[in-house]
Amino acid sequence: MPVFINLKNELKNEDFIEREFSIPFNSLGLPEEYSSEKENVDVHLYIIKEKDGYLVSLTVNSDIQLECSRCLESFNMDLNGTSNIFLSKRKLIGDSELHEKDLIMEYLEDEEHFNLSELLREEILVQTPMKPLCDEKCKGICPVCGSNRNENQCICEEKLKRKESPFAKLKTLIEKKETKKN
Ligand SMILES: [Zn+2]
Ligand SMILES: [Zn+2]
Repeated sequence: MPVFINLKNELKNEDFIEREFSIPFNSLGLPEEYSSEKENVDVHLYIIKEKDGYLVSLTVNSDIQLECSRCLESFNMDLNGTSNIFLSKRKLIGDSELHEKDLIMEYLEDEEHFNLSELLREEILVQTPMKPLCDEKCKGICPVCGSNRNENQCICEEKLKRKESPFAKLKTLIEKKETKKN
């Protein structure tokens, strides 16, 4: 079940509110390849009432399991980040809207049913790297023998280099000489 906040009610007599939520990872409707070892995503929220909407500061704390784009092993990635979002009560008109740097603008359709789960889902998607890496220095998979080079240092590349070296020529020369002799 998505988590809804009634902003109109909650901020009726307040200029801002602070809230914490623990939302089940599986309830967020993330793509299938997303999984987490933690059952819940922890969320910390500040919501400030503005003239035309609400300013939301959203801090996400979760970890997700991803597949490394180089070595294809799965690994855990900490998801820790704060985003500032302005929920506008007015329809947004493209780029003509005035917005500060690092402020995400979203149209708030119904201030009595603000869908926190949906915002969280988007945040997790945005914070996931396009090409996840288990480590900056991940050596990936050997294109020759297919082994994971982080675990198994094969010598395929070295062999290839030797083949291309000037001594490869020497080898064929020796072979030619040998065949002549016979
Ligand atoms: Zn890797
Ligand atoms: Zn290899």
